[in-house]
Amino acid sequence: MSARVDLLALPRPKSDHAAPFRMRRVGDHVVLTSVAGRYAILDRDEFARFAAGDVPEGTPLFERLKAANLLRDHFDVPAAADMLRARRAFVGAGPNLHILVVTLRCNTSCVYCHASRANMNATHTDMTPEIAEKCVDFILQSTNPSVTIEFQGGEPLVAFDVMKHTIEYALEQNRSVGKELEFTLVSNLSLMDEEKLAYLVDKRVQICTSIDGPPDIHDEVRKLPKAYGESGHDLAVEWTRKINARYREMGLDETLYHVEALVTTTRALLPRWKELVDTYVELGCRALFLRPLDPFGFADKTGDRIEYPREAYLEYYRHAVDYMIERNKEGVEILERYAAIFLTKILRGEDPNFLDIRQPAGAGIGQLAYNYDGAIFTCDEGRMLHEMGDDSFRLGHVDETSYRDVIGHETVRATVIAGQLAGQPDCESCAYQLYCGIPPVHSHKTQGTLFERMRESTLCQVHKGIQDYLFEKLATADAETRQVLERWTTIRPRDHFLHAPTGG
Ligand code: SF4
Ligand code: SF4
Repeated sequence: MSARVDLLALPRPKSDHAAPFRMRRVGDHVVLTSVAGRYAILDRDEFARFAAGDVPEGTPLFERLKAANLLRDHFDVPAAADMLRARRAFVGAGPNLHILVVTLRCNTSCVYCHASRANMNATHTDMTPEIAEKCVDFILQSTNPSVTIEFQGGEPLVAFDVMKHTIEYALEQNRSVGKELEFTLVSNLSLMDEEKLAYLVDKRVQICTSIDGPPDIHDEVRKLPKAYGESGHDLAVEWTRKINARYREMGLDETLYHVEALVTTTRALLPRWKELVDTYVELGCRALFLRPLDPFGFADKTGDRIEYPREAYLEYYRHAVDYMIERNKEGVEILERYAAIFLTKILRGEDPNFLDIRQPAGAGIGQLAYNYDGAIFTCDEGRMLHEMGDDSFRLGHVDETSYRDVIGHETVRATVIAGQLAGQPDCESCAYQLYCGIPPVHSHKTQGTLFERMRESTLCQVHKGIQDYLFEKLATADAETRQVLERWTTIRPRDHFLHAPTGG
């Protein structure tokens, strides 16, 4: 039965006692959300009383509705304004995340490669030191006092010298600029060696890798040539363990400092959710981001082998997160990243500033991407589209475009407007509107418009399905489950990776 039919079966709320609200039926409950995103979960009887305006002052239901700012005569305007401000705290800051594609070359052939990697002999796709310096000069103009330079590819370790040069130059230039600076490397780790690792650890570069499930699945979708003598999975695991051990030797808290691993969910992984979670737990990972496939890069062509209906994805998601909650109850600390992002917004009323699930999305105003040739894009996905022959999200070039022209570019303005869900059909009345976000670049790629039609959107389906699952959990959770979910919203800064404004 669709949510629409379910809602029609509920009594229509009277409008003279309720503050503006949105509602959604989830299992046997109804979720009500206020204009600022506070929530109350009612059972059927409670909802009938709310709908009829039969909620006497002083009753527990009255207190819950009042606390969620859902009663007209008790509507707390300052509280609503404060919460809306907290949810949009990122808006005026300027781009924090700057993605540098230091090369398109890669030694691995992933079946879905979103980056559209190039062969190892494509040296013309290496960023030159001159372009790298211009990128850094551009990045340090950001109005955001904190800046993260993220090295991506291709495989960034292929162009390790450019990476090193970029880091040295950024640290040097930042002495006079005074940003809080952070470096991140996204790598398959197969080209890591002791010398590179020593440098990365010394420069406090945060390292992320990909583990796409148990070895057979990982090696099937992320093919590393046999010449390396070991499987891509084994190399990624081996180096992850070594790096984590290095952090421990340095006396860093291993719950906070460890290699972050990412999974890309392909069709073969769907029934293997338990092994996936166990793989991550066994590796010492504290977070698992159950991302579905994106429609960019090679995934556009290989979809018939690796794609799946989003209903199947959501079933996998629910199984995996149920299992993660059980593992947490046994004392294992591992969270699911989607759940942590949405729960932070739902339970804390804050926004964790995840660029793809916020309003407006991060494109242009939260992140920028720089191709190996110096071309600037709204985001990494915009740069991925360029590799697919679509330059819609190109904003200029580090040689010729000013920071002001990039930030004020008409494409940035259009994506900011489109990234607001308040005016979108369906989102307008969706109970999850204050927690959600759809990157317009996804809308452009999948539907040829910046304003996604949510009823046909796989991303909306995923976000709605995950939030349905979370609200169902919140409605029915025992105290221990609730504690686990609340713990997932704890954000602990990783100060060790920060280079202080003084150049320290
Ligand atoms: S996803 Fe990364 S590791 Fe895989 S082929 Fe593409 S660039 Fe290489
Ligand atoms: S994208 Fe979908 S889930 Fe998100 S607010 Fe819009 S309708 Fe709701």
